[in-house]
Formats: sequence, C-alpha cells, structure tokens
Amino acid sequence: MSTILSKVVSKYRRLVAYRLNRRMVSIETQVPLISFTFDDAPITAFHTGGNILHSYGARATYFVSLGLLGATTEVGTIASIDDLLRAVNEGHELGCHTFDHLYTWQTNPKKFIESITRNKLVLESIIPGICFKTFAYPIGVPRPSVKSQLEKHFLCCRGGGQIPNVGFADLNLLKAYFIDKRNNVDIESIKKIIDHSISSSGWLIFATHDVTEKPSPYGCTPHFFTEVVKYAAQSGAVILPVIDALERLQLAKETRIE
Ligand SMILES: [Zn+2]
Repeated sequence: MSTILSKVVSKYRRLVAYRLNRRMVSIETQVPLISFTFDDAPITAFHTGGNILHSYGARATYFVSLGLLGATTEVGTIASIDDLLRAVNEGHELGCHTFDHLYTWQTNPKKFIESITRNKLVLESIIPGICFKTFAYPIGVPRPSVKSQLEKHFLCCRGGGQIPNVGFADLNLLKAYFIDKRNNVDIESIKKIIDHSISSSGWLIFATHDVTEKPSPYGCTPHFFTEVVKYAAQSGAVILPVIDALERLQLAKETRIE
C-alpha cells in the first residue's frame, strides 16, 4: 500500500512540477544544440569527463553545491576550489545546485532559497567576478512556487525527464537526459535520442555525475562517455555549455524579429 501511495505522490509531484509556473520559450535554432552537464561536481567529472569533452573541442556545465567541496559522497570525492578555477579558465560554466545539495520538493522553500543565496555568495568569495546564471534541481522535481521564485535568480533551471527539449521548453524546468547506470542507458538509446533531437532541431541536455571505471549508479565509465561525446560531436549539433546554448537561442530569436 505504501508503495502505491508513494507512486501516486511521485506522479502528482511530477505532474504539477511540469504543468505549473512555466516560462515557455520556443526552441528554434538552425543548428541543433547539445549540452553536457555534470551534477555535484565530483573530481572525476572535471578530470576525466572534462578531458574527454576537451578532446572533442567541447565545454561543459558543472552544477556545483559548494557545501560539498572536498567531501566524500556516493558519486566520489567532490572537486576542490582549484578544480573549479581550472574549469572556469578552460571555458566551462559553473551552475548552481544549492549550497547544501537539498532535496528539491521536500525542503522548505525558504530554506531552499537561502541555500541558493549562500551558494552564490560563497562562489563570489572564492572566485570573484564569476556568478551562477543557471541552476539544476538536486534530487527530485520542484514545487511550482519554487519554480517561480527561481526565475528571479537564474536564466534557466534544469531538471530531468529523459527527453530532449523540442519545439517548446520550460526555462524553469528544462528537460535533461541522464547518462547513468541507474537509468540503464545503452549507446543505441543514446544515439536514437541524439538523432531525434537533431531531426527536430532540438536542444538536448545530457547530465551525469562521476565518470570513472567503477561508476556510482549516477555516473558512467570513461569509455561510455567517450562514445556519447563522439556521436554527439559528429551529429551536426553544436556542443555548448547551458548558458551559451541559451544565449544562442535568444540571439536566433532576436535576429528573426529584425
Ligand atoms: Zn545533485
């Protein structure tokens, strides 16, 4: 009974999260877009994941919870300040993931926003001149009221959903496709989703955590990640961090209006 109840609750949360308080934008771009994102920022995401992207001339978005820096977690050891600095110098984007890596729906909205503000302030203190412009919800979907509040803080916010952003997208809850053991993804499924996004001129946002030979349920191996990046790089899409992809979408729209 409790399993049935939890399924109903989870379905209700997803329904209201995806239907309410949306900030819709049309995804119209002549060149399809792909973004690679890493949540929590474990060291392997910077060193291994970042190097793989770099070898294909691509850059990533790292969604960081600065309260976790240096901590040992289930996705491995989290990055250091030096890792963040190096990523910024190499042109990667740092996005916000709350300071404390909070449960998104279950956390009191006031506490959730306070954790976002703290993450912003700490970033400004450790890397002056750099600020978060994008956000990824940690663990679960957002309450509609939280979606509305985050509009004041970020240009866009990413969730999950395992589909590309095609036609229209909600900037308060962009879809992403997680590459991880938990979702049991295989390379053929990934190729299909890339092909679908390309043929629909969509924006496909990939997400993962650790990239290592023995990944957590939330990560993948270097070989698998390389296969995905290789297929994405030769797909005809442009690979950009989330903020750059968003700017390209907005630029395309402004150009059309003129
Ligand atoms: Zn996370």
